[in-house]
Amino acid sequence: MTRFIFVAGGVMSGVGKGVATASIAKILQSKGFRVSALKIDPYINVDAGTMNPIEHGEVFVTDDGTECDQDVGNYERFLNESFSTWNYLTTGRVYQAVINRERNLEYGGRCVEVVPHIPLEVIARIEEAGKKDRADFILVEIGGTVGEYQNLLFLEAARMMKLTMPSRVLFALVTYLPVPRMIGEMKTKPTQTAVRSLNSAGIQPDIILARSELPVDEPRKKKISIFCNVAPEDVISAPDVHSIYEIPLNFEKDNLGNRILQKFRLQKKAHDLRDWRRLVEVIHAKKPEVHIGVVGKYFETGEFTLMDSYISVIEAIKHASWANKREPKITWLSAEKYEKNPKAIKELASFDGIIVPGGFGNRGVEGKIKAIQFCREQRISFLGLCFGLQLAVIEFARNACGVRDATSGEFNPHAKHLLIDVMPEQKVLLKEKRYGGTMRLGKYFCQITKGTHAFRAYGQTEISERHRHRYEVNNEYREILEKKGMVFSGINPERNLVEIMELKNHPFFVGVQFHPELRSRPLIPHPLFREFVRVSSRGRT
Ligand code: GLN
Repeated sequence: MTRFIFVAGGVMSGVGKGVATASIAKILQSKGFRVSALKIDPYINVDAGTMNPIEHGEVFVTDDGTECDQDVGNYERFLNESFSTWNYLTTGRVYQAVINRERNLEYGGRCVEVVPHIPLEVIARIEEAGKKDRADFILVEIGGTVGEYQNLLFLEAARMMKLTMPSRVLFALVTYLPVPRMIGEMKTKPTQTAVRSLNSAGIQPDIILARSELPVDEPRKKKISIFCNVAPEDVISAPDVHSIYEIPLNFEKDNLGNRILQKFRLQKKAHDLRDWRRLVEVIHAKKPEVHIGVVGKYFETGEFTLMDSYISVIEAIKHASWANKREPKITWLSAEKYEKNPKAIKELASFDGIIVPGGFGNRGVEGKIKAIQFCREQRISFLGLCFGLQLAVIEFARNACGVRDATSGEFNPHAKHLLIDVMPEQKVLLKEKRYGGTMRLGKYFCQITKGTHAFRAYGQTEISERHRHRYEVNNEYREILEKKGMVFSGINPERNLVEIMELKNHPFFVGVQFHPELRSRPLIPHPLFREFVRVSSRGRT
């Protein structure tokens, strides 16, 4: 019998609702329950795959190939679980399902209406997700902020669930308490307004997670309690933290886990967050730095968007650094800068390692290729992720194998030397403009050759990793590349596709056609990232 905890956001977005949701889930998991999580996004897009990362952050991919919101990545990282298409819902998905049912005559000739059919579909999906994950608890995060028109039908679904199963549904509201500099005092009014707004949707929050720069003190807890109709013990202080992985520990300081259990009339239980606490100690400990540069392009609108565009890459670097007892220092390097100012490339020499992450399209490509060449020639550790592998192959063909006009079909499908080419089935999809959810997505098998960097990292020959791409290394050029020292150390045997590429005679120069960052977990860093950071940080003590 699954219990449902809805998490909605008030006051403003971007205050860490996803991490708060993941943290509640973590606490309950640490008390011995089976916990799942589901992200609801109010947009019409059927999935996140058709959005530019600048729009909505990184596109996270699950094992089953669902292109979803980055919060699903937070859930996986905090819970150390792998989720699926059931853990993600959008307005587009709900409407698509209802329309398909209607077309199949599944509503028995009735008039199909927004209310109740849309909320009923939402409810069915939420219940199914809980069942599928055999969850004792499922956290359901409703995207956006209360008071928005967009997420009303999801709140309506939540309200209906509370009505029909009052003992199995709980509401948490994540709000923000500003501390305006000119006043110097933490203000509760926006939270009061947010609660009113939630009330007008027929929902009373059971718990308020009070995000703020500072911890929430007793007088403010009392005030929120009186004005928002919750017990003072249910106002949980959620101050800014150094690392998001501290948040479950912080919530537990306010006894959040047992408050939740009590509300469900369950026995109180002690948590076991020992591993987690040890991790936080490592994060805080003083340790030698490792400097990693990420050469990308999805960060034009400032630091925050940038963080979101490559969030799994950032987290994977951090996990690997902590495992190597290093303090990660991550720098964003704009690929286009190296096109405008080729001399700037020399700055790469000051880094311990360089990552070229996933990407699409022409912009910034030549800058990334220059960066890759510099890493290869100057023996700087290099890790190429998906697009990063493809560009490393192009660079090597051009500058080490003499194929001067080597390129990818993504940039010019009619070029003579397509080192990277579109996969045959993808060609058909592109021609028919069937873009949504049609890339080579999700988990695929890869066979690793012994005695390679890849094998040293993984310690096994059979692995599987998550993919998201349409283009691949063109097998016709493999021999030419191999002759000059490129090693194809990971192959998908079913289709003979290159999955991992590396260079002989280089401390660490590895490219992967998949996205290892999506599988990295704070307590179990991804082996390739761990090895990359290990080699990168050898020089520093
Ligand atoms: N644009 C490339 C492709 O479609 C790489 C994709 C990626 O980096 N995820 O194959």
